[in-house]
Amino acid sequence: MKLQYDYQYFPISIPDKGAGGKTGNWRVVKPVISKEKCIQCKACYLWCPESTIHIDNEVYIDYEYCKGCGVCASVCPVKAISMVMEQ
Ligand code: SF4
Ligand code: SF4
Repeated sequence: MKLQYDYQYFPISIPDKGAGGKTGNWRVVKPVISKEKCIQCKACYLWCPESTIHIDNEVYIDYEYCKGCGVCASVCPVKAISMVMEQ
């Protein structure tokens, strides 16, 4: 039997254009990925509740929408993500 997926209900939010989901200037800490440590396992990409982590040859974070929650840092198996204070 062929499985069919209804992507209308796929449980991943996708940031869209517009100011509604943007972080603004209230984020206190932000995640920074160490390219040297990252093994590209995609765990951060899968768990980010804002879907602001992208993979395009390498893993990167869209800081326009990142809320600084730290989920990505906590799930990274090699501790490649550090949460650093905003300047
Ligand atoms: S800090 Fe939170 S919102 Fe920002 S990239 Fe990590 S998991 Fe996503
Ligand atoms: S979870 Fe860590 S090792 Fe895996 S892709 Fe993200 S930053 Fe890289």
